[in-house]
Amino acid sequence: MKIAVLPGDGIGPEIVKQAVKVLKFFDLEKSLDYAAIGGAGYEEFKDPLPKSTLELALKADAILLGAVGDWKYDKLPRDMRPERGLLRIRQSLNLFANLRPAIMFSELIHASSLKAEVVSDLDILIIRELTGDIYFGEPRGIVTNKKNEREGFNTMRYSESEIKRIAHVAFRTALKRSKKLCSVDKANVLESTELWREIIIQTGKEYPEVELSHMYVDNAAMQLVKNPKQFDVIVTGNIFGDILSDQASMLTGSIGMLPSASLDANNKGMYEPSHGSAPDIAGQDKANPLATILSVAMMFKYTFNDQDKFNLIENAVRGVLNRGFRTEDIYSNGTNLIGCEEMGDKVIERLEV
Ligand code: NAD
Repeated sequence: MKIAVLPGDGIGPEIVKQAVKVLKFFDLEKSLDYAAIGGAGYEEFKDPLPKSTLELALKADAILLGAVGDWKYDKLPRDMRPERGLLRIRQSLNLFANLRPAIMFSELIHASSLKAEVVSDLDILIIRELTGDIYFGEPRGIVTNKKNEREGFNTMRYSESEIKRIAHVAFRTALKRSKKLCSVDKANVLESTELWREIIIQTGKEYPEVELSHMYVDNAAMQLVKNPKQFDVIVTGNIFGDILSDQASMLTGSIGMLPSASLDANNKGMYEPSHGSAPDIAGQDKANPLATILSVAMMFKYTFNDQDKFNLIENAVRGVLNRGFRTEDIYSNGTNLIGCEEMGDKVIERLEV
Protein backbone atom coordinates (compact mmCIF):
# COMPACT_ATOMS: atom_id res chain seq x y z
CA MET A 1 0.00 0.00 0.00
CA LYS A 2 1.41 3.40 -1.00
CA ILE A 3 -0.05 6.66 0.22
CA ALA A 4 1.21 9.97 -1.18
CA VAL A 5 0.92 12.73 1.40
CA LEU A 6 0.64 16.25 -0.02
CA PRO A 7 0.24 18.77 2.82
CA GLY A 8 0.12 21.87 0.57
CA ASP A 9 -0.26 25.39 1.92
CA GLY A 10 -1.77 27.41 4.76
CA ILE A 11 -3.31 25.12 7.35
CA GLY A 12 -2.59 22.12 5.07
CA PRO A 13 0.53 20.92 6.94
CA GLU A 14 -1.14 21.26 10.39
CA ILE A 15 -4.30 19.34 9.52
CA VAL A 16 -2.44 16.69 7.51
CA LYS A 17 -0.15 16.08 10.49
CA GLN A 18 -3.21 15.13 12.57
CA ALA A 19 -4.59 12.85 9.85
CA VAL A 20 -1.19 11.18 9.55
CA LYS A 21 -1.40 10.34 13.27
CA VAL A 22 -4.46 8.24 12.37
CA LEU A 23 -2.64 6.51 9.51
CA LYS A 24 0.25 5.77 11.85
CA PHE A 25 -2.19 4.43 14.44
CA PHE A 26 -3.18 1.85 11.83
CA ASP A 27 0.51 1.00 11.22
CA LEU A 28 0.76 2.70 7.85
CA GLU A 29 3.80 4.83 8.63
CA LYS A 30 5.96 2.93 6.13
CA SER A 31 3.40 3.48 3.38
CA LEU A 32 3.69 7.26 3.46
CA ASP A 33 5.67 9.39 1.00
CA TYR A 34 5.55 13.18 1.19
CA ALA A 35 5.64 15.68 -1.69
CA ALA A 36 4.97 19.35 -2.34
CA ILE A 37 1.93 20.74 -4.16
CA GLY A 38 0.35 24.17 -4.67
CA GLY A 39 2.28 27.14 -3.31
CA ALA A 40 4.71 24.73 -1.63
CA GLY A 41 5.42 23.18 -5.05
CA TYR A 42 5.92 26.61 -6.58
CA GLU A 43 8.35 27.63 -3.81
CA GLU A 44 10.44 24.49 -4.19
CA PHE A 45 10.23 23.74 -7.94
CA LYS A 46 8.54 26.79 -9.54
CA ASP A 47 5.62 24.50 -10.40
CA PRO A 48 2.34 24.03 -8.43
CA LEU A 49 2.38 20.38 -9.49
CA PRO A 50 6.06 19.39 -9.64
CA LYS A 51 6.92 16.42 -11.88
CA SER A 52 8.19 14.42 -8.89
CA THR A 53 4.89 14.99 -7.04
CA LEU A 54 2.83 13.85 -10.00
CA GLU A 55 5.02 10.74 -10.42
CA LEU A 56 4.57 9.88 -6.74
CA ALA A 57 0.81 10.39 -6.97
CA LEU A 58 0.58 8.24 -10.11
CA LYS A 59 2.35 5.37 -8.32
CA ALA A 60 0.35 5.68 -5.08
CA ASP A 61 -2.81 3.73 -4.24
CA ALA A 62 -4.25 6.75 -2.46
CA ILE A 63 -3.38 10.39 -1.92
CA LEU A 64 -3.93 12.46 1.19
CA LEU A 65 -4.05 16.18 0.42
CA GLY A 66 -4.27 19.12 2.83
CA ALA A 67 -5.20 22.25 0.90
CA VAL A 68 -3.56 24.65 -1.52
CA GLY A 69 -3.55 28.39 -2.01
CA ASP A 70 -2.57 31.66 -0.50
CA TRP A 71 -3.47 35.20 -1.47
CA LYS A 72 0.22 35.96 -1.95
CA TYR A 73 0.16 33.85 -5.14
CA ASP A 74 -2.79 35.72 -6.68
CA LYS A 75 -0.51 37.82 -8.91
CA LEU A 76 1.32 34.82 -10.43
CA PRO A 77 0.52 33.78 -14.02
CA ARG A 78 -2.57 31.54 -13.93
CA ASP A 79 -0.61 28.35 -14.68
CA MET A 80 1.70 28.92 -11.73
CA ARG A 81 -1.06 29.49 -9.16
CA PRO A 82 -1.53 26.84 -6.45
CA GLU A 83 -5.12 26.02 -7.48
CA ARG A 84 -3.83 25.09 -10.94
CA GLY A 85 -1.79 22.31 -9.31
CA LEU A 86 -4.97 20.90 -7.82
CA LEU A 87 -6.88 20.97 -11.11
CA ARG A 88 -3.93 19.35 -12.89
CA ILE A 89 -3.55 16.50 -10.39
CA ARG A 90 -7.28 15.74 -10.55
CA GLN A 91 -7.11 15.71 -14.32
CA SER A 92 -3.83 13.77 -14.60
CA LEU A 93 -5.10 11.03 -12.28
CA ASN A 94 -8.51 11.03 -13.94
CA LEU A 95 -10.25 11.61 -10.62
CA PHE A 96 -13.62 12.29 -12.16
CA ALA A 97 -15.90 11.43 -9.23
CA ASN A 98 -15.91 13.72 -6.22
CA LEU A 99 -17.86 12.42 -3.23
CA ARG A 100 -18.73 14.97 -0.58
CA PRO A 101 -20.86 13.84 2.32
CA ALA A 102 -22.68 16.39 4.47
CA ILE A 103 -23.37 14.67 7.77
CA MET A 104 -24.87 16.36 10.79
CA PHE A 105 -23.11 15.25 13.95
CA SER A 106 -25.84 15.59 16.59
CA GLU A 107 -23.32 17.16 18.99
CA LEU A 108 -22.89 20.11 16.58
CA ILE A 109 -26.51 20.75 15.78
CA HIS A 110 -26.35 24.26 17.26
CA ALA A 111 -23.43 25.21 15.03
CA SER A 112 -25.76 25.05 12.02
CA SER A 113 -27.38 28.29 10.97
CA LEU A 114 -30.58 26.37 10.20
CA LYS A 115 -33.20 25.21 12.69
CA ALA A 116 -32.33 21.99 14.47
CA GLU A 117 -35.38 20.13 13.12
CA VAL A 118 -34.37 20.96 9.53
CA VAL A 119 -30.88 19.47 9.86
CA SER A 120 -31.04 16.88 12.65
CA ASP A 121 -29.78 13.47 11.43
CA LEU A 122 -28.95 14.97 8.04
CA ASP A 123 -26.84 12.61 5.94
CA ILE A 124 -26.55 13.48 2.27
CA LEU A 125 -23.91 12.71 -0.30
CA ILE A 126 -23.14 15.00 -3.21
CA ILE A 127 -21.42 13.37 -6.16
CA ARG A 128 -19.78 16.02 -8.29
CA GLU A 129 -18.23 15.35 -11.70
CA LEU A 130 -14.73 16.72 -11.32
CA THR A 131 -12.78 16.68 -14.57
CA GLY A 132 -15.17 18.19 -17.12
CA ASP A 133 -17.61 21.05 -17.53
CA ILE A 134 -16.85 24.75 -17.75
CA TYR A 135 -13.72 24.44 -15.57
CA PHE A 136 -11.92 22.46 -18.28
CA GLY A 137 -13.91 23.18 -21.45
CA GLU A 138 -12.08 24.70 -24.41
CA PRO A 139 -12.03 27.27 -25.92
CA ARG A 140 -11.54 29.65 -23.03
CA GLY A 141 -9.77 32.92 -22.55
CA ILE A 142 -9.90 36.68 -22.51
CA VAL A 143 -9.88 38.34 -25.94
CA THR A 144 -10.46 41.78 -27.38
CA ASN A 145 -13.71 41.79 -29.36
CA LYS A 146 -14.74 43.75 -32.46
CA LYS A 147 -15.86 46.67 -30.32
CA ASN A 148 -12.33 46.83 -28.95
CA GLU A 149 -13.57 45.69 -25.57
CA ARG A 150 -12.07 42.83 -23.57
CA GLU A 151 -14.30 39.78 -23.30
CA GLY A 152 -13.84 36.75 -21.04
CA PHE A 153 -15.32 33.41 -22.06
CA ASN A 154 -15.45 29.76 -21.01
CA THR A 155 -17.07 26.71 -22.52
CA MET A 156 -19.47 24.40 -20.71
CA ARG A 157 -19.25 20.97 -22.28
CA TYR A 158 -19.84 17.33 -21.41
CA SER A 159 -19.43 14.28 -23.60
CA GLU A 160 -21.73 11.26 -23.38
CA SER A 161 -18.97 9.06 -21.98
CA GLU A 162 -18.09 11.60 -19.26
CA ILE A 163 -21.73 11.74 -18.16
CA LYS A 164 -22.15 7.99 -18.34
CA ARG A 165 -19.19 7.16 -16.09
CA ILE A 166 -20.25 9.58 -13.34
CA ALA A 167 -23.83 8.31 -13.69
CA HIS A 168 -22.66 4.74 -12.99
CA VAL A 169 -20.79 5.90 -9.86
CA ALA A 170 -23.91 7.73 -8.69
CA PHE A 171 -26.33 4.86 -9.30
CA ARG A 172 -23.98 2.32 -7.69
CA THR A 173 -23.56 4.58 -4.66
CA ALA A 174 -27.31 5.14 -4.39
CA LEU A 175 -27.83 1.36 -4.44
CA LYS A 176 -25.69 1.09 -1.30
CA ARG A 177 -27.67 3.83 0.47
CA SER A 178 -31.40 4.58 0.33
CA LYS A 179 -31.71 3.89 -3.43
CA LYS A 180 -32.75 7.49 -4.12
CA LEU A 181 -30.80 9.62 -6.59
CA CYS A 182 -31.46 13.22 -7.56
CA SER A 183 -29.69 14.53 -10.66
CA VAL A 184 -29.21 18.30 -10.73
CA ASP A 185 -28.95 20.18 -14.02
CA LYS A 186 -30.18 23.24 -15.90
CA ALA A 187 -31.61 21.31 -18.80
CA ASN A 188 -34.21 24.00 -19.50
CA VAL A 189 -31.50 26.47 -20.56
CA LEU A 190 -28.15 24.75 -21.17
CA GLU A 191 -27.68 22.21 -23.96
CA SER A 192 -24.75 20.49 -22.24
CA THR A 193 -27.02 19.69 -19.30
CA GLU A 194 -29.88 18.71 -21.61
CA LEU A 195 -27.55 15.93 -22.77
CA TRP A 196 -26.62 15.32 -19.12
CA ARG A 197 -30.26 14.60 -18.27
CA GLU A 198 -30.77 12.37 -21.31
CA ILE A 199 -27.73 10.21 -20.47
CA ILE A 200 -28.60 10.02 -16.77
CA ILE A 201 -32.07 8.73 -17.67
CA GLN A 202 -30.60 6.27 -20.17
CA THR A 203 -28.05 4.94 -17.62
CA GLY A 204 -30.76 4.75 -14.96
CA LYS A 205 -32.50 2.00 -16.99
CA GLU A 206 -29.65 -0.29 -15.85
CA TYR A 207 -30.55 0.44 -12.22
CA PRO A 208 -34.33 -0.05 -11.97
CA GLU A 209 -34.15 -0.33 -8.15
CA VAL A 210 -32.97 3.28 -7.88
CA GLU A 211 -35.64 5.98 -7.75
CA LEU A 212 -34.31 8.74 -10.01
CA SER A 213 -35.46 12.35 -9.85
CA HIS A 214 -34.27 15.54 -11.55
CA MET A 215 -34.03 19.07 -10.28
CA TYR A 216 -32.88 22.36 -11.79
CA VAL A 217 -29.88 23.77 -10.00
CA ASP A 218 -31.60 26.96 -8.83
CA ASN A 219 -34.37 24.93 -7.22
CA ALA A 220 -31.81 22.51 -5.74
CA ALA A 221 -30.03 25.44 -4.06
CA MET A 222 -33.35 26.50 -2.56
CA GLN A 223 -34.43 23.00 -1.51
CA LEU A 224 -31.07 22.33 0.15
CA VAL A 225 -31.80 25.12 2.58
CA LYS A 226 -35.56 24.60 2.85
CA ASN A 227 -35.74 20.85 3.27
CA PRO A 228 -32.32 19.19 2.90
CA LYS A 229 -33.50 15.87 4.30
CA GLN A 230 -35.51 15.20 1.12
CA PHE A 231 -32.15 14.32 -0.51
CA ASP A 232 -29.98 11.26 -0.12
CA VAL A 233 -27.55 11.10 -3.07
CA ILE A 234 -27.24 14.05 -5.46
CA VAL A 235 -25.28 13.82 -8.72
CA THR A 236 -24.33 16.90 -10.67
CA GLY A 237 -21.72 18.50 -12.92
CA ASN A 238 -18.52 20.23 -11.91
CA ILE A 239 -19.60 23.85 -11.45
CA PHE A 240 -23.03 23.15 -9.94
CA GLY A 241 -21.44 20.55 -7.65
CA ASP A 242 -18.78 23.00 -6.53
CA ILE A 243 -21.36 25.49 -5.36
CA LEU A 244 -24.00 23.09 -4.01
CA SER A 245 -21.49 21.05 -2.02
CA ASP A 246 -20.17 24.17 -0.28
CA GLN A 247 -23.74 25.15 0.47
CA ALA A 248 -24.52 21.68 1.81
CA SER A 249 -21.41 21.79 3.94
CA MET A 250 -22.69 24.83 5.75
CA LEU A 251 -25.89 23.01 6.70
CA THR A 252 -23.78 21.04 9.10
CA GLY A 253 -22.21 24.01 10.83
CA SER A 254 -18.59 24.16 9.81
CA ILE A 255 -16.64 23.51 6.67
CA GLY A 256 -13.95 22.22 9.04
CA MET A 257 -15.94 19.00 9.50
CA LEU A 258 -16.39 17.92 5.90
CA PRO A 259 -14.23 15.34 4.13
CA SER A 260 -14.14 14.47 0.46
CA ALA A 261 -12.98 11.72 -1.85
CA SER A 262 -12.10 12.08 -5.52
CA LEU A 263 -12.04 8.72 -7.27
CA ASP A 264 -10.97 7.29 -10.62
CA ALA A 265 -12.63 4.35 -12.35
CA ASN A 266 -10.73 1.85 -10.14
CA ASN A 267 -11.42 3.58 -6.82
CA LYS A 268 -7.93 4.97 -6.55
CA GLY A 269 -8.59 8.17 -4.72
CA MET A 270 -7.40 11.51 -3.52
CA TYR A 271 -8.74 12.38 -0.10
CA GLU A 272 -8.91 15.93 1.17
CA PRO A 273 -11.01 18.19 3.34
CA SER A 274 -13.66 20.21 1.51
CA HIS A 275 -12.28 23.50 2.75
CA GLY A 276 -9.36 25.58 1.50
CA SER A 277 -6.03 26.52 3.01
CA ALA A 278 -7.49 29.12 5.42
CA PRO A 279 -4.48 31.47 5.33
CA ASP A 280 -6.22 33.66 7.93
CA ILE A 281 -5.62 31.04 10.66
CA ALA A 282 -2.57 29.21 9.29
CA GLY A 283 0.22 28.43 11.77
CA GLN A 284 -1.91 29.35 14.80
CA ASP A 285 -3.00 25.87 15.88
CA LYS A 286 -6.62 26.93 15.37
CA ALA A 287 -7.61 24.80 12.38
CA ASN A 288 -10.12 22.00 12.73
CA PRO A 289 -8.40 18.80 11.54
CA LEU A 290 -11.55 16.64 11.67
CA ALA A 291 -12.44 17.03 7.97
CA THR A 292 -8.97 15.74 7.08
CA ILE A 293 -9.20 12.91 9.61
CA LEU A 294 -12.63 11.97 8.22
CA SER A 295 -11.05 12.05 4.74
CA VAL A 296 -8.69 9.30 5.94
CA ALA A 297 -11.79 7.38 7.05
CA MET A 298 -13.13 7.72 3.49
CA MET A 299 -9.76 6.47 2.17
CA PHE A 300 -10.25 3.25 4.12
CA LYS A 301 -13.82 2.91 2.90
CA TYR A 302 -13.44 3.67 -0.79
CA THR A 303 -9.87 2.76 -1.76
CA PHE A 304 -8.95 0.12 0.83
CA ASN A 305 -12.46 -1.34 1.06
CA ASP A 306 -12.23 -1.37 4.85
CA GLN A 307 -15.58 -0.34 6.29
CA ASP A 308 -14.45 -1.34 9.81
CA LYS A 309 -11.69 1.26 9.95
CA PHE A 310 -14.06 3.83 8.47
CA ASN A 311 -16.47 3.14 11.33
CA LEU A 312 -13.69 3.19 13.94
CA ILE A 313 -12.49 6.63 12.82
CA GLU A 314 -15.97 8.09 12.51
CA ASN A 315 -16.87 6.79 15.97
CA ALA A 316 -13.65 8.22 17.42
CA VAL A 317 -14.57 11.64 16.00
CA ARG A 318 -18.08 11.34 17.45
CA GLY A 319 -16.55 10.32 20.79
CA VAL A 320 -14.34 13.41 20.89
CA LEU A 321 -17.27 15.70 20.07
CA ASN A 322 -19.41 13.88 22.59
CA ARG A 323 -16.89 14.66 25.29
CA GLY A 324 -17.25 18.35 24.49
CA PHE A 325 -13.90 19.03 22.75
CA ARG A 326 -14.11 21.70 20.05
CA THR A 327 -11.82 23.73 17.83
CA GLU A 328 -12.70 27.40 17.47
CA ASP A 329 -14.87 27.01 14.34
CA ILE A 330 -17.31 24.69 16.13
CA TYR A 331 -16.93 26.09 19.64
CA SER A 332 -20.00 27.09 21.65
CA ASN A 333 -20.46 28.09 25.29
CA GLY A 334 -20.01 25.23 27.71
CA THR A 335 -17.72 23.22 25.45
CA ASN A 336 -13.97 22.77 25.80
CA LEU A 337 -11.87 24.81 23.35
CA ILE A 338 -8.75 23.01 22.09
CA GLY A 339 -6.28 23.49 19.23
CA CYS A 340 -5.59 21.52 16.06
CA GLU A 341 -2.78 19.42 17.55
CA GLU A 342 -4.76 18.47 20.65
CA MET A 343 -7.81 17.60 18.55
CA GLY A 344 -5.64 15.11 16.64
CA ASP A 345 -4.44 13.62 19.94
CA LYS A 346 -8.00 13.34 21.27
CA VAL A 347 -9.05 11.35 18.20
CA ILE A 348 -6.13 8.96 18.76
CA GLU A 349 -7.12 8.60 22.44
CA ARG A 350 -10.63 7.56 21.35
CA LEU A 351 -9.19 5.11 18.81
CA GLU A 352 -7.12 3.56 21.57
CA VAL A 353 -10.13 2.69 23.77
P1 NAD B 1 -11.14 28.55 3.00
O1 NAD B 1 -11.97 27.32 2.96
O2 NAD B 1 -9.69 28.38 3.05
O3 NAD B 1 -11.58 29.44 4.25
C1 NAD B 1 -12.91 29.95 4.41
C2 NAD B 1 -13.14 30.26 5.90
O4 NAD B 1 -13.28 29.02 6.61
C3 NAD B 1 -11.98 31.00 6.57
O5 NAD B 1 -12.51 31.88 7.52
C4 NAD B 1 -11.19 29.90 7.26
O6 NAD B 1 -10.49 30.34 8.40
C5 NAD B 1 -12.30 28.91 7.62
N1 NAD B 1 -11.79 27.53 7.63
C6 NAD B 1 -11.50 26.77 6.54
N2 NAD B 1 -11.06 25.57 6.92
C7 NAD B 1 -11.07 25.56 8.27
C8 NAD B 1 -10.70 24.60 9.25
N3 NAD B 1 -10.24 23.38 8.93
N4 NAD B 1 -10.82 24.93 10.55
C9 NAD B 1 -11.29 26.12 10.90
N5 NAD B 1 -11.66 27.08 10.03
C10 NAD B 1 -11.54 26.81 8.72
O7 NAD B 1 -11.57 29.41 1.71
P2 NAD B 1 -10.99 30.83 1.18
O8 NAD B 1 -10.65 31.71 2.33
O9 NAD B 1 -11.99 31.25 0.18
O10 NAD B 1 -9.67 30.44 0.40
C11 NAD B 1 -8.37 30.48 0.95
C12 NAD B 1 -7.41 29.85 -0.03
O11 NAD B 1 -7.73 28.46 -0.18
C13 NAD B 1 -7.46 30.45 -1.43
O12 NAD B 1 -6.16 30.57 -1.93
C14 NAD B 1 -8.28 29.43 -2.22
O13 NAD B 1 -7.97 29.45 -3.59
C15 NAD B 1 -7.85 28.16 -1.57
N6 NAD B 1 -8.80 27.03 -1.70
C16 NAD B 1 -8.24 25.79 -1.81
C17 NAD B 1 -9.07 24.68 -1.86
C18 NAD B 1 -8.41 23.33 -1.89
O14 NAD B 1 -7.22 23.21 -1.65
N7 NAD B 1 -9.16 22.27 -2.15
C19 NAD B 1 -10.45 24.82 -1.78
C20 NAD B 1 -10.98 26.10 -1.63
C21 NAD B 1 -10.15 27.22 -1.58
